[in-house]
Amino acid sequence: MKSVSPKSKLLKQPRIIDVLEGSETGPTLIFVGGIHGNEPAGVQALREVFKEVHYVNGLLKGKAFAIAGNISALQKGLRYIDQDLNRMWTKESVEQHLENNSELPPTQEAIEMRELYDTLQHILKTEVGPFYFFDLHTTSSKTIPFLTVNDNLLNRRFAKQYPAPIILGIEEYLEGPLLSYINELGYVAFGFEGGQHDDSKAIENHKAFIYCSLEFCGMLHHQHSLVETNCQILDNCCEGISGMFEIFQHYKLRESDQFIMQPGYQNFSSVTKHEVLASHNGKPVTIASNAKIFMPLYQHQGTDGFFLIKPIPNFFLKLSAILRRWKIHHLLPILPGVRWASAKKDALLVNRKLARFFARDFFHLLGYRSKTMKNNHLVVRNRESVAKTKLYKKEAWFHA
Ligand SMILES: [Zn+2]
Repeated sequence: MKSVSPKSKLLKQPRIIDVLEGSETGPTLIFVGGIHGNEPAGVQALREVFKEVHYVNGLLKGKAFAIAGNISALQKGLRYIDQDLNRMWTKESVEQHLENNSELPPTQEAIEMRELYDTLQHILKTEVGPFYFFDLHTTSSKTIPFLTVNDNLLNRRFAKQYPAPIILGIEEYLEGPLLSYINELGYVAFGFEGGQHDDSKAIENHKAFIYCSLEFCGMLHHQHSLVETNCQILDNCCEGISGMFEIFQHYKLRESDQFIMQPGYQNFSSVTKHEVLASHNGKPVTIASNAKIFMPLYQHQGTDGFFLIKPIPNFFLKLSAILRRWKIHHLLPILPGVRWASAKKDALLVNRKLARFFARDFFHLLGYRSKTMKNNHLVVRNRESVAKTKLYKKEAWFHA
């Protein structure tokens, strides 16, 4: 089917774009498109795929929901109206917005958040699962498609089915994205970046990702011709780049900063030591080591200047899977200066002096990623303990 321009057909967008329901029981898939309003390609792809798949309804198992993210921003073609809807999903922020004690009128995104929250909660309460959550995005720079995945073994195991590179552990650098909130609830949840915002191929790539997801979750049979063709599209456009990468540097900006990237950088482009990447408040920005660049900022809104990434060696992935399954991290509080942050034992408080002796890779190995400072202690959080692994144990991909 022919793709149309990403900016068309977005007025009067309902929250639930479409629903697919199979004749047999199966998984529940939740796709969100356009949580950033200047990224309509995911919404358009969802509309097209769901329409195409309605014709093969008899072959479906389970249920899939296509949901619109920031509707008011989508209608204006802006990333957001008052605040970034994909940075509002920390536990505290969600609770604050639900209580709504403020005397000030709510921001546009607070209204969007409440609706989105109610929609997701309704699905989680009324459907059976296992649940899969996919957040569809595009980037301001040119890019091959890739997945952004919070680091737990469940996410890793599911995400490695896709023929696309994976950025692991992004939760350490982003405050309050929706997919981290869903991960905290224990479900498989990750993001897909389908290409540059206004690249017509972004819709095609999103469609390929959605078809692959329908197959990998067991909703649509892999021998169906639509699945085969679309998974091949994703494979072809990743230019041979695959495997898992992790961020090791984040160039952060303040809202008021003047930041201009040098032209021509794409995601996964190699950059060299001392290369001038950008101008920040009139000063040149250089880097200290060779790396690959990730998410260089080529738009006016946003405070992430760029990230630097490196591939994660296979032995590290395997070793960390073994150590986490053995729950080695439960021994860490034996060390002086390390204690549990709560009775739930999902976060550790590490004395600031002691934290300096541990390489960050050490915490990553044991599954501790997102971190904040609190009263002279480093708080590191582990997502393994909340993962609802049992829900997924009977699924075909779990044993692949
Ligand atoms: Zn986005």
